[in-house]
Amino acid sequence: MIICYLGIGANLGDKRKNLRQAVELIAQIGGVNLLSISHFYETEPWGVENQPNYINAAVKIETDLQPLQLLDSLQAIEHKLGRVRKEHWGARTIDIDILSIDGITMDTERLKLPHPYMFQRDFVLIPLSEVSGEEYQLHGDKVTKVKGCLVDFNLKLIACVDNNFGLGLNDKLLFHIDEDLKRFRELTINHTVVMGRKTFESIGKPLDNRRNIVLSRRVDFIGGLEVANSLDDLYNLLLGRSITSIFVIGGGEVYRQLIPYASEIYLTVVDESKRADTYFPNLNNFEEFICDSIDQGSGFKFKHYRRKI
Ligand code: ATP
Ligand code: CA
Ligand code: CA
Repeated sequence: MIICYLGIGANLGDKRKNLRQAVELIAQIGGVNLLSISHFYETEPWGVENQPNYINAAVKIETDLQPLQLLDSLQAIEHKLGRVRKEHWGARTIDIDILSIDGITMDTERLKLPHPYMFQRDFVLIPLSEVSGEEYQLHGDKVTKVKGCLVDFNLKLIACVDNNFGLGLNDKLLFHIDEDLKRFRELTINHTVVMGRKTFESIGKPLDNRRNIVLSRRVDFIGGLEVANSLDDLYNLLLGRSITSIFVIGGGEVYRQLIPYASEIYLTVVDESKRADTYFPNLNNFEEFICDSIDQGSGFKFKHYRRKI
């Protein structure tokens, strides 16, 4: 897997929604893992004036695709989201540029790497800096952080795993530890919990005194519950009343989908190695998060992680 940075922008239609959808589709490309996404920024047009302001963001991915395969997949997403190519640097519903791919330089008509103008554009460098952790020489252009991205909500992931990040087997959790369940309740009570459909079914009912949201691509309605069919839906549900903390409580697929947007992780690590068929993302290969506190229990640890950049 190779690290790669993308710059995305939009200045037509529902710009923020276009960006949210683009990122969701990027995460679904086979051979691509989304690692992190920046906040959204409003910026003035660059190159060709007299067009609406842009919303821009940057994402960090890892991929095992060849550069041109990646470009093909990204252009297919631009097409799907209604990009029509007219004048160069003209207005567009979505633009996805490959800013850089680790260790690769290229200078062909179809693909130039690193992107030839990236270091001249504050609208690229400011969001990029959020996901790369690097500092760049800026030019004083007007670039303003705005709301619009799921990262605005500082999502917290909470899970209980074994030594190998195993979560569950046959739709059941690996562990039910009283002290851990008590802490889960204390942390999440009066807040919002987001879960996948299977996790909801295994719990069997909404968690009391919490706002329950089920994230499911397939199911539209579960009696008395809020259901989000996409991350864009989830964004809009949270926008309504986001005064509480948002805890993502599983399962494996939902953790994987939401970890790029998360800012904290509460992980209970039980000192055992069990058979499992669902896993939390392996944080040992995931440098975005650092562990900033560990509390030792009997036979387990409460670990807390914070997004590094
Ligand atoms: P700019 O590249 O200056 O930001 P733009 O994004 O408006 O301008 P497009 O019309 O989106 O330009 O792209 C024109 C062509 O640029 C694409 O068809 C693509 O083949 C080529 N291209 C070259 N290098 C890259 C790159 N690093 N990322 C994306 N496209 C690239
Ligand atoms: Ca561009
Ligand atoms: Ca482009």
